[in-house]
Amino acid sequence: MAVIKGNIPKGEIDVKKFILDDVYIEDVCPKCGNMCSMDLGINYLSHPKMNDKDYYTVYCDKCDHDWDIPIKVNLNIQLL
Ligand SMILES: [Zn+2]
Repeated sequence: MAVIKGNIPKGEIDVKKFILDDVYIEDVCPKCGNMCSMDLGINYLSHPKMNDKDYYTVYCDKCDHDWDIPIKVNLNIQLL
């Protein structure tokens, strides 16, 4: 019977382009109130941290403002 041993560590994932098609992060621009949508298929995560707090930069093209929002990439492995 297959088993998984050990714990998934925290830390940076050695992936330059962590692309997630059809996933979006949306937030309201704190400067102008515009609803901004970031396509993670295009504006991918670069070397994200797994199972730990990280930040993603959202950009507002209406007023040329950017800000960081906290995110967490959860990585888990299951036997099926
Ligand atoms: Zn804005």
